Amino acid sequence: MTRFRLIATGGTIASRRSAGGLLAETTGAQLLAASELGALEVEVDDFTTKGSYAFTLDDLLALVRRVHDALAQGVDGVVVTHGTDTMEESAFLLDLFHADPRPVVLTGAQRPFDSPAPDGPANLAAAFAVAASPQARALGPLLVFDGLAWQARGVRKVETLAAAAFGAPGRGPCLRVTHDRVLPLGARSRPSAFDLDAVRELPRVDVVAAYAGADGALLQAAVAAGAGGVVVQALGAGNASPAMTAAVARLVDRGVPVAVCSRAFSGPVAPMYGGGGGADLERAGAVFASDLSPWQARLLLSVSIAHKPEDPGAVLRQWLQQEASAGAHVRRMSDGARTSDQGAS
Ligand code: ASP
Repeated sequence: MTRFRLIATGGTIASRRSAGGLLAETTGAQLLAASELGALEVEVDDFTTKGSYAFTLDDLLALVRRVHDALAQGVDGVVVTHGTDTMEESAFLLDLFHADPRPVVLTGAQRPFDSPAPDGPANLAAAFAVAASPQARALGPLLVFDGLAWQARGVRKVETLAAAAFGAPGRGPCLRVTHDRVLPLGARSRPSAFDLDAVRELPRVDVVAAYAGADGALLQAAVAAGAGGVVVQALGAGNASPAMTAAVARLVDRGVPVAVCSRAFSGPVAPMYGGGGGADLERAGAVFASDLSPWQARLLLSVSIAHKPEDPGAVLRQWLQQEASAGAHVRRMSDGARTSDQGAS
């Protein structure tokens, strides 16, 4: 019989109302019972009971290790219940280290466990349906929510409270989950995975936003606070103010890697404009991070620093290049296409 592991981490799906606000205190076994999943063999691992807004980089890395442990123990698939606020980050970090065809599926809820109409039970049932489906094999970690599944790269929380909480602007979902079926929509292949055993901790990387009138003070403050790299959440196609661009040049000169993403939801960044804009950011040595969200780019940069501290920019560029050529072909990867941890460099 197919064996699954449910790793419960908290979030709204596990939350109940209390005088102090919603608190994630429902156990994995209680979540399973509420979902009426029928005859499935599910081992439960109560990893933590936190809102995902409280997760640290150490928590995220510990979760990745926990999922790897479950797979090493021979389960056929893993389902992770998780808060929605940072689910796109956990999914992406899992993806960076995932070189296994077995499904790892994250899900959660927008309405709490004790809501009169909770969405968690249906999302959890859909997550198990996806984890059990051959359609989900070799796609990497998936985020399942409100009847759709997305690959980790590019998925974002796009609604604060509505049940259809997630989207992948410019990319779309990879599977549809109906009442009795998991239907393929379109999936992308992924760059090779990083070696988890080579990473002891994730270095701090901060995201600094560009906006009209922004200067370089927060970029300098991030590094002063210990950031080993910075992601600029740039304007439009990847522009910052002349003052920020000058600060980026100073950071890169000091050996601090800087990645550029956009505050726009969809589309790649491109070094197009002079006068302190994106072309100058690129000349300053910043790496343009395609259409990665700042939050996912931050994790990639952190893993790149951990992987090759002497030249994280090279790792980042190589991953982006691999992703661009892999992503150009929308196709299903066959089992075993990504079975070895080779690292992106
Ligand atoms: N709104 C969040 C959730 O859905 C809170 C969190 O991320 O834990 O769970």
